Amino acid sequence: MAVDATKPYDDQNIFAKILRGEIPSKTVYEDEWALAFYDINPQAPQHILVIPKGAYVSWDDFSANGSDAEIAGFVRAVGHVAREAGMVEPGYRLLANIGQDAHQEVPHLHVHIFAGKPLGPMLMRG
Ligand code: AMP
Repeated sequence: MAVDATKPYDDQNIFAKILRGEIPSKTVYEDEWALAFYDINPQAPQHILVIPKGAYVSWDDFSANGSDAEIAGFVRAVGHVAREAGMVEPGYRLLANIGQDAHQEVPHLHVHIFAGKPLGPMLMRG
């Protein structure tokens, strides 16, 4: 079910459990501000999720309440992951789903990085 992105942070969400090491993930990159890991159900040949380490539900929550250091650290981590994965030259797509119309499933902010093939139109048509 899609997330109500206006609700308070739920520390039992699956990405909070990954951050605490309670469930496994395939780590791509980790630093003080961010964790990147492979999506369990890839939608492209390369599909990586990057999450901030802080407890933020959505881009809205993070941009309003995150510190400058957290925001800078997270944005730099996304770029670092894409560069290290060799995505810059062929190209890649960033996507963050926020709330119900976007079908956000996990109530911890995450940016999807897709790459590895021509990615088609930006949005489903119709
Ligand atoms: P969203 O619809 O933007 O909230 O996307 C949530 C994403 O999290 C989906 O692409 C799922 O495949 C992915 N996902 C859910 N559980 C896990 C998990 N345990 N490890 C890695 N990815 C996951």
